[in-house]
Amino acid sequence: MHEFSLVRSLLRQVGDLLVEHGGVGVKAIRVEMGPLSGVERQLVELAFDQEVVMTPCRGARLVIEEVSLTAICQDCRAEFQMQGFDFVCHSCESRQIQITGGDEFRLLDVDIAVSEASRSELHQRV
Ligand SMILES: [Zn+2]
Repeated sequence: MHEFSLVRSLLRQVGDLLVEHGGVGVKAIRVEMGPLSGVERQLVELAFDQEVVMTPCRGARLVIEEVSLTAICQDCRAEFQMQGFDFVCHSCESRQIQITGGDEFRLLDVDIAVSEASRSELHQRV
């Protein structure tokens, strides 16, 4: 599945950050997901649960921020947030609109544990 390869590359990216910052574990991973990203939230969560245990990020919480779809009208240049998949300009009702955001699936930030103490705190909470 598409989601599994996305999650694997996400975890590799986070693993690199962990090494780079000299951390001992990852507490939380926050990603941004738009409605046109082409990924299913449930599948991402499923893939994450299965993949994360095999990586240094094990124990990390996945936080998915759902972003809304944004567009710009080619006729009146209005920029707006789309409601659902209604591809119509909110100002002039033109259908000549261009999507400007909402197709991403990307890493926003990572909460890295930097000492053994914070890592054991994390394990107790989990
Ligand atoms: Zn317009």
